[in-house]
Amino acid sequence: TDETTDLDARTKDLDRAHVFHSWSAQAALDPMVIAGGSGTTVWDHAGTRYLDFSSQLVNVNIGHQHPAVVRAIQEQAATLATIGPATANLARGEAARRIVERAPDGFEKVFFTNGGADANENAIRLARLHTGRDTVLSTYRSYHGNTGAAIVSTGDWRRIPNRYARGHVHFFGPYLYRTEFWAASPEEECERALRHLERVIQAEGPTTVAAILLETIPGTAGVLVPPPGYLAGVRALADRYGIVLILDEVMAGFGRTGRWFAFDGYDVMPDLITFAKGVNSGYVPVGGVIISDPIAAQFDEEVFPGGLTYSGHPLAAASIIGALDAMADEGIVDHAARVGSESIGPALHALAERHDVIGEVRGEGVFWALELVADRATREPLPAAAMGSLKSGLVARGLLPFVSENRIHVVPPCVVTTAEVDQAAAIYDEAFTDLARAR
Ligand code: PLP
Repeated sequence: TDETTDLDARTKDLDRAHVFHSWSAQAALDPMVIAGGSGTTVWDHAGTRYLDFSSQLVNVNIGHQHPAVVRAIQEQAATLATIGPATANLARGEAARRIVERAPDGFEKVFFTNGGADANENAIRLARLHTGRDTVLSTYRSYHGNTGAAIVSTGDWRRIPNRYARGHVHFFGPYLYRTEFWAASPEEECERALRHLERVIQAEGPTTVAAILLETIPGTAGVLVPPPGYLAGVRALADRYGIVLILDEVMAGFGRTGRWFAFDGYDVMPDLITFAKGVNSGYVPVGGVIISDPIAAQFDEEVFPGGLTYSGHPLAAASIIGALDAMADEGIVDHAARVGSESIGPALHALAERHDVIGEVRGEGVFWALELVADRATREPLPAAAMGSLKSGLVARGLLPFVSENRIHVVPPCVVTTAEVDQAAAIYDEAFTDLARAR
């Protein structure tokens, strides 16, 4: 109707006039209007519907407007909408208990933050206080958030204009498709990447290194599933040199891989776990650090020098309880594993057989990437212009994609159905066919 079309227009006008957007030059922006959603679908005011195969920023794991999560927030809002972090609050305690119940033995405490960046910020602070050391090692292919230490831990270009924090050193993690180590097999990539990391530790001075900060599966950098043995090897290096291992599970955690934590699929035990996104699917901003007993014990008597007005906010806590209980009751994590292995994986591999532009298919659960190339032999990345037209082709056909550099990340909510996967696969197929015709 005219009225709903006007609402879309008014939303755009207000946005253009007053909203300053992330990571962008503002003038050329033309953001999509989204007014509502349910499950894997979102729509604008006029009712144009899109399949959300981005989960927004890969965070809406439980899908849009899950009624149990909405209800939990509404009920908490009616009871106590806010309360300071120094109080004891039932919702906060219940949320923390549900989180540590899913963590390995030896993790009993949660420090709540406002999101993923400040979770990493505080994990780094804990590691530095625990070791009395300064240096934080992280990979070039990583994203850890947009605050002081988190953005400088980040490997991609976003750290470069933001280098205010000290003590950050980067290394290369394993990525066989674009190996830095001339490796020809996952075994070689693993062995050489570990050797490289050990040399970096030695060259920096092992007694200066506080933490190794790693995404269990680097997400924004391309869903870089580590080769067997890599994470166990990093753990062994951390032990050898007395370094704290922080696993960033902000994107990979809480169902994305078809497991509660991505590291549950590997032979590795972190010292600190950071989380955000999937823990409550972003219905209220929240994140946190799950702290292993030896590090937590240090602060039994010693003052922890950190805090936030909204640490353990009751609306966030209620949303965590609602989300984790619904995920457990409805078998949502198992569903994500199954839909990944039975539906998404086979569909993406079938696309790769039909379209030369797909250089590699990687992933598991609802956490996949298609690496697109101009030439399969040279693996030259598909140029930005082609990525741009692919993106608009997908949107025009009713699919919200997650596009990063030369990749499409296939990252729907954990609740995506087989029928929706089929629908999305048909849309990707048409968009790749158009692209091939145009090139
Ligand atoms: N860590 C990882 C692995 C992420 O993917 C992100 C966000 O994309 C963050 C940290 C930062 O989280 P937030 O944007 O909630 O601060």
